[in-house]
Amino acid sequence: MRTDNFQAPDYYNLDELLTEEHKIVRDAARKWVKREVSPIIEDAAQKAEFPKSIISGLAEIGAFGPYIPEEYGGAGLDQISYGLIMQEIERGDSGVRSTASVQSSLVMYPIYKYGTEEQRKKYLPKLASGEFMGCFGLTEPDHGSNPAGMTTNFKDKGDHYLLNGAKMWISNAPFADIAIVWAKDENGRIHGLIVERGMEGFTTPETHNKWSLRASATGELIFNNVKVPKENLMPNKSGLGAPLGCLDSARYGIAWGAIGAAMDCYDTALRYAKERIQFDKPIAGTQLQQKKLAEMITEITKAQLMAWRLGVLRNEGKATSAQISMAKRNNVEMAITIAREARQVLGGMGITGEYSIMRHMMNLESVITYEGTHDIHLLITGMDITGIPAFQ
Ligand SMILES: Cc1cc2nc3c(=O)[nH]c(=O)nc-3n(C[C@H](O)[C@H](O)[C@H](O)COP(=O)(O)OP(=O)(O)OC[C@H]3O[C@@H](n4cnc5c(N)ncnc54)[C@H](O)[C@@H]3O)c2cc1C
Repeated sequence: MRTDNFQAPDYYNLDELLTEEHKIVRDAARKWVKREVSPIIEDAAQKAEFPKSIISGLAEIGAFGPYIPEEYGGAGLDQISYGLIMQEIERGDSGVRSTASVQSSLVMYPIYKYGTEEQRKKYLPKLASGEFMGCFGLTEPDHGSNPAGMTTNFKDKGDHYLLNGAKMWISNAPFADIAIVWAKDENGRIHGLIVERGMEGFTTPETHNKWSLRASATGELIFNNVKVPKENLMPNKSGLGAPLGCLDSARYGIAWGAIGAAMDCYDTALRYAKERIQFDKPIAGTQLQQKKLAEMITEITKAQLMAWRLGVLRNEGKATSAQISMAKRNNVEMAITIAREARQVLGGMGITGEYSIMRHMMNLESVITYEGTHDIHLLITGMDITGIPAFQ
């Protein structure tokens, strides 16, 4: 079993910007990851299994609905605490963070924001405790970067809706108890429906053979004349802005999470470089390896400052979608670059499961693609600064 000797880098004393509560929440998550995730994650990833045994622990550290009010079972924390929890979990594994992100920002958030009081009371406490797990179905086989083109649809049949269509690449789908499904009504308007496992005609086949996010279960959602009760439609927001609002929250969490993966790669590479002797001295004493390590800590520090500032803006309700896009894009690119460089610092050992770097590197290939690809986030920034959309 791999020993987790992680020491978190904090080159600009960012801890001084955090409140006592932030540090307590962060440290609890950090300890939990070291104790519960690090010892089992390599095995789970090698077996391509989501480790369900950690669900209750994720709930205990507040990873399910960190910012959802306590009256609905959430942790009632602010946005920086939410970000720090995501950072710590992704320090362990991006797949585990994906499960927590989906549950919080893509399942609990829409029910809280767009759902009825009955829906909140029925689902949120169970989702916060991990008794229920959820998934979020937006992407379709023919509509990924352009979800507005979705064809999944529902028809009003008087006392229920009839849902047809298919979603793919859905995190948590194979074991989720409920799915937040985005589908068009007869007028082509997008709405969110809560679809429950067990509804006739609803199946969730698993997607196999992934080389990335292996410790996260991914699948399809297939709807074949599924009768959805009318009370399962979330009435308080419709149109593409509804799922995009959820994605803002999840992308913000990713901007922090990616820092965790990068910190783990940097910390591992730094320790290895100081211990590994070649040509009669530690490789850390060579200019080439110092360049890699110095650039890593510089980029991590810039990403930490960006995420913290974005958290302040979100706490004030002022962060724009474009600002969130920029942080998601920058920080994931930062993390994947660091993972690739850190892997080289470890030489041949870098490709083994003895160290976490290769797993982070492969995981980040999904993180750079989902929740808006690297290219699409660049186009969002481009549109924001020029006022001209360049998507088509
Ligand atoms: C492991 C994993 C988990 C996921 N989990 C979920 C989930 O839980 N729920 C969910 O709904 N989805 C999920 N996704 C789907 C993910 O959000 C999509 O894969 C992503 O949005 C990209 O869509 P696509 O794969 O269809 O790629 P495409 O949209 O086909 O894009 C292919 C390439 O073309 C580029 N491109 C597209 N449009 C343009 C353009 N206008 N200009 C320039 N370049 C362009 C893209 O940047 C990309 O490089 C997941 C994906 C993965 C891999």
